[in-house]
Amino acid sequence: MKYFSTRGNSVKDGAAYAIAEGLAPDGGLYVPESVPRVGADNIERMCGMDYRARAEYVMGLYLEDFTAEEVCKVCAAAYGDNYDDARIAPLSVQGNGISFLELWHGPTAAFKDMALQALPHLLTLSLKKTGESRTVLILVATSGDTGKAALEGFADTEGTKILVFYPDDGVSDVQKLQMVTQVGENVSVCAVKGNFDDAQSGVKLLFADKELAKSLDEQGIFLSSANSINWGRLLPQIVYYFSAYCDLVSAGRVKIGEEINFSVPTGNFGNILAGYMAKRMGLPVKKFICASNANNVLTDFINTGVYDRTRPFYKTASPSMDILISSNLERLLYFVSGSSDEVSTYMKKLGTEGRYEVGSALKTDIEREFFASYCSDDDTFERINGLYEREGYLMDTHTAVGYKAVEDYRAATGDETETVIVSTASPYKFCDSVLRALGDNAEGNGAELVDGLERRTGTQAPKPLKDLDKRAIRFTDSVETGEMRKYLLSTVM
Ligand SMILES: *Cc1c(COP(=O)(O)O)cnc(C)c1O
Repeated sequence: MKYFSTRGNSVKDGAAYAIAEGLAPDGGLYVPESVPRVGADNIERMCGMDYRARAEYVMGLYLEDFTAEEVCKVCAAAYGDNYDDARIAPLSVQGNGISFLELWHGPTAAFKDMALQALPHLLTLSLKKTGESRTVLILVATSGDTGKAALEGFADTEGTKILVFYPDDGVSDVQKLQMVTQVGENVSVCAVKGNFDDAQSGVKLLFADKELAKSLDEQGIFLSSANSINWGRLLPQIVYYFSAYCDLVSAGRVKIGEEINFSVPTGNFGNILAGYMAKRMGLPVKKFICASNANNVLTDFINTGVYDRTRPFYKTASPSMDILISSNLERLLYFVSGSSDEVSTYMKKLGTEGRYEVGSALKTDIEREFFASYCSDDDTFERINGLYEREGYLMDTHTAVGYKAVEDYRAATGDETETVIVSTASPYKFCDSVLRALGDNAEGNGAELVDGLERRTGTQAPKPLKDLDKRAIRFTDSVETGEMRKYLLSTVM
C-alpha cells in the first residue's frame, strides 16, 4: 500500500517507509492511498476476539509490507501483561446510554500507551525493512502524557535514543515526576520555558533544520517522531474504536450494524481522527463529539469553518488538551476534501497568518461527521463530582470534558444514540484536580495526592503511579526554546 503526504509532494511505497520517516519532507503527514473496508461480517468476527487479536486484524490491513508473524509479534509485545486489566481496553458500561472506554490501564496510566507500546516495535521493524542502519533519535514535544508514554515505550529499545521536551509550566506534578524519574540508558528529558505550543514549535524547527540533520548524520544518527504525526502512532489507535463497538455488541447494547456515537476529549486531533478512520473503514458511527476545554480552537473551527490559532492560550485542569495547533486536523482536511492542493493552501495560511477558512462544501462535510463543544474548568469539576456522587464512577478531568460535551450534544440535538466516551487518563494522573472537584483541599506533592485520592474514594491507584516520590530524580535540566538545538546536540555527543 502506498502512503501519500497530505500536501501531495511525497509518496512512499509501504507503511514501513512512512513510519520510518514520520513527517513527510514537504511538511505534510502520511496517509494511506486507500482505506481498507471492514464489513459487518468481519466486525461480527472481531466480537469473538480478544484485544490483541482485534489489533492484529485491524493493523494488519494497513501493514501489507509486514509479515503476519511480524504483526503478531508487535501486538503480542504491545498488548500483553503490560496492562493492569487483561481486557487491555475495557468498556465500562453505565446507565443512560453511556459507556466509558478506559484507555488508561497501560504502564503510564494514559491512553497514549495504546499506541506507544506498539510504536517502538513498528518503528524498529520499519527501519530494518527500509535498510536504515543509523540510530534513530526520537524527538518528542509533550503536553505530559505522550512524553512519559514514549519514554516507557522506547526505554532501552535497541537502535533507538529518545529525547523528550516538556513545557516547564504545562504538566501536572504527577506527570513531571513520572518523566524525570524515567529509567533507561537511551533516554533524556528536559523542560522548556514556555507552553506546549512553544515546545512543539521548537521541536518542529529542529526537524526542519538541515544543518542539524547533517551533523547528526555524521554521527550515524537521524531524527524521528513519536508524536501523532507519525502514521505508526495513529494506526494502533484505530483498533480500540472497533474494540469498543464489539464490546457494546457483546454487552447487548447495540446490534451489529447499528450506529453509535463517540465523544472524544481532543487536543492534537489524533485520537478522534483514528475514530474517523475507523468509520471510513466501515464502523457504524453516527457522530463524533469533539470535546475541548477553554482552548476551544477546534470547537470554533467545526462550528464556523475558521481555524484561528491567534487567540489567548489558557492553562486548564485538562492540560493534555491545552493545544492551539491540532496537527492531525490536516489529515481530516485531506480525507474530507480529497485534495492535497487545498490542504497545502490552508497549511501555508496557518503558517503565515495563523488562520484559515475552509470552503463551504468542506465545512458542511465536516459538520455532518462532527459535533463540537467545549467547557470551563468549573464545568469539568462539576461533572466529576456529580457522576461520582450519583454513580460512584470516578473520571479524570479530560474524560469529564468529554462527558460534558455529550450533555451539550444531547441538549442540542435530542439524539439519545448509545454513546461511548473515550476515557483518556486515569483519575490518579490528575489527582490534584480530581480531589479539588470532590471538594477536598488538594495540598501536597504528587505522591501525597495519589495517597489522598485513594483515601478519599477507597479506590486503588494504578501501580505505576504509586511511590513516585521514592524514585530517584534523574533529569533536572531546563532550557529556553532557543537553546533546544544546543541541548539536543549535547545529549548525543
Ligand atoms: C493526549 C491526550 C488527549 C488528547 O488527545 P489527542 O490525540 O491529542 O487529541 C486527551 N486526554 C489525555 C489524557 C491525553 O493524554
